[in-house]
Amino acid sequence: MTDTSTETAVRFRSDMTVELVKHNAADSDVLWAARVSTAGEQSIDELAKDPERSKGLINFLMRDRHGSPFEHNSMTFLISAPIFVFREFMRHRVGWSYNEESGRYRELQPVFYVPDESRKLVQEGRPGKYVFVEGTPAQQELTGRVMQDSYRQAYEAYQEMLAAGVAREVARSVLPVGLYSSMYATCNARSLMHFIGLRTQHELAKVPSFPQREIEMVGEKMEAEWAKLMPLTHAAFNANGRIAP
Ligand SMILES: Cc1cc2nc3c(=O)[nH]c(=O)nc-3n(C[C@H](O)[C@H](O)[C@H](O)COP(=O)(O)OP(=O)(O)OC[C@H]3O[C@@H](n4cnc5c(N)ncnc54)[C@H](O)[C@@H]3O)c2cc1C
Repeated sequence: MTDTSTETAVRFRSDMTVELVKHNAADSDVLWAARVSTAGEQSIDELAKDPERSKGLINFLMRDRHGSPFEHNSMTFLISAPIFVFREFMRHRVGWSYNEESGRYRELQPVFYVPDESRKLVQEGRPGKYVFVEGTPAQQELTGRVMQDSYRQAYEAYQEMLAAGVAREVARSVLPVGLYSSMYATCNARSLMHFIGLRTQHELAKVPSFPQREIEMVGEKMEAEWAKLMPLTHAAFNANGRIAP
């Protein structure tokens, strides 16, 4: 039996959202930390006096991989993405704190991922040396249709169990990894650079990575926010091959 109220409630999305909700991060934090041993508390005042020297110091720290001065800052992001993205995301253990919405304490909302036409669907080549290509219109139509049907069916099963009094933490087992979730992720510039280096592709990367497109979409948005806060650090990251110090 089809539950029409559930039918209308189900939503499909193709985007990832990233909101910078809190931050305490500036290039001066890096310089302050790097200079404290010689200049002490006065170092913050000195930053504005000699911008070229400040830029040079950040570049030197990045190039020679003196990483700890890049840790004295904090950014908290609110991220909305499918569960399979978070599963990859939470492999990043060092310099990250996470809190994700609960499937035990609240009813999960029927919002599911369906790739849009910009998402290349077909993998070609051998493992470790492959490319993604668009796929035919038939493959695109099939993907959208099958995903939507499957999501609807899964969410109806979830609803059926909840209606029968089954606990949320048990009923959620039937929901797929394409379900959207949300989390706060807090990091510092060093841990973010490590994440971005692995989870984005970029022409300046000395060591290319091959991330899944959906986590890359999240990484690109986080990088854009970070670049506004710490432009000198971001420029030095790019200039040194996008390898975290
Ligand atoms: C393209 C791509 C494909 C991937 N495919 C797979 C896959 O098929 N299967 C899979 O399981 N994972 C996969 N991963 C996840 C990957 O193996 C890492 O778990 C993930 O990228 C996090 O990296 P990390 O451990 O360097 O980060 P973090 O956990 O943030 O660690 C940062 C750094 O701290 C140090 N460190 C952290 N923990 C330890 C430790 N226990 N011992 C020693 N040093 C430590 C290391 O220097 C590490 O680089 C993939 C990742 C990418 C980017």
